[in-house]
Amino acid sequence: MSSVLSQVFSSKLFRGSYPDEKPEIGFQMEGSAQEKRRMTSLVNRIARSSPFGRSVLEKAAEGGYTLAFQARNGTIVGSCCEQKKAILLDPVYSDSRLISTLAHEARHAEQFVRGADSEFGKRTVKSEIMLYRAMEADAQAAAAVTVLEMKGRGDDKPWQKLKKESPYITDPLKYAEEHISKPRATNGLLGAAFKGWYDDALIKEAYENSYIVATMDEIMKKKKEAENPYDQKETSANIVNMICRGVDGCYFKNEPEVLENPKFLDISPSTLSKAMHYFSVRKMRTGAEPDPSVDALPVRPATSTVAPVYVWGSYYDISGVGENIRLGMIKKSRNGR
Ligand SMILES: [Zn+2]
Repeated sequence: MSSVLSQVFSSKLFRGSYPDEKPEIGFQMEGSAQEKRRMTSLVNRIARSSPFGRSVLEKAAEGGYTLAFQARNGTIVGSCCEQKKAILLDPVYSDSRLISTLAHEARHAEQFVRGADSEFGKRTVKSEIMLYRAMEADAQAAAAVTVLEMKGRGDDKPWQKLKKESPYITDPLKYAEEHISKPRATNGLLGAAFKGWYDDALIKEAYENSYIVATMDEIMKKKKEAENPYDQKETSANIVNMICRGVDGCYFKNEPEVLENPKFLDISPSTLSKAMHYFSVRKMRTGAEPDPSVDALPVRPATSTVAPVYVWGSYYDISGVGENIRLGMIKKSRNGR
């Protein structure tokens, strides 16, 4: 059962009432009766006006993922847990905001069902960059195309919200938005939104900080270098074939090497120095040679003197904070997921 706090944000007082309707997708839902009605309304809005979004939700539900609300002080809009097979949404956000988040998190569930995982430290650094960025870019592309389809069928607000928050992924869809009355998810639109994600250097840096830099720091702190081989190689073709699924197979089937593009691979100078430091510490402690894939990664100019950090779905500005950073000391700069 969800917490009382969580229930408050979906209560009639906050949201008004929702019809008692049957969910169009067979998700197992957890929470109070009112919360389930709200979840059903979100699911049905997507299922009724986006064929692509419907298919994403169906794959997540078929994969056994449950749906629930969890209040988290507004620091994270939603999440998808591979181990618990759970999609969680923060009830504090509006329905129009949660629609794209539900599509995004359900897409992560679909990725896990197709064989993706969230085991950091297993693959080479280059393979991690290719895989985890592709998972995020694809989840955003799926969300963007879902809300674009909804807009074409009269449900406009989720698109407007996403457009304001993540212009990098919605801008490449502008032509379809303006010139096609009922846009449909195509491989071209999914690929364009996917590529747009990589134009946002801030988000790439935030992901590097949380998935590479923070992970390496944690491993070194716990002296678990021997358990994190960083040696499994993945190819661009295998990754896009598993992750980038459109209405008609892989949406990059004509471009399987897309992830080898320098824009898709570049890392920040601070990520490079962390990786070099990590592998030298590892060599000292275990004798293992450094991961050679790091040397092949292009390094982009630093975005700012102080990089943002990404924690639980939000970016935090750490300027003016000393070396031992705690979340309470730093200022939230923008939401992510
Ligand atoms: Zn995500």
